Amino acid sequence: MTAADREDCSVKWCDESGVHTVHRHYVESIPADSGRWVLGVNVVRPHSSTTGVELATVPRHGRSTVVRLGTHEADLLHEAIREAVERIQRRAGRDDV
Ligand SMILES: [Zn+2]
Repeated sequence: MTAADREDCSVKWCDESGVHTVHRHYVESIPADSGRWVLGVNVVRPHSSTTGVELATVPRHGRSTVVRLGTHEADLLHEAIREAVERIQRRAGRDDV
């Protein structure tokens, strides 16, 4: 590792250090499915591309998957999850959950 590798990134919000091709800010890391998965939500900006949201699914064993979403796509995902949670909550107390 050279001295340059240890320098912080010039992009202020970037959490990556050393040589990297994607600027990334780690927003949230959510254990899911009884700890079988960790879901990571990051802000990313690949070089020569626009800033977006990165959804990382990291299994306890095996390969992780990364999906990059534009802000509109991320909004749709957010709305869909919100809708699903609200449907569950509306049915809470009924026996068809
Ligand atoms: Zn960076």
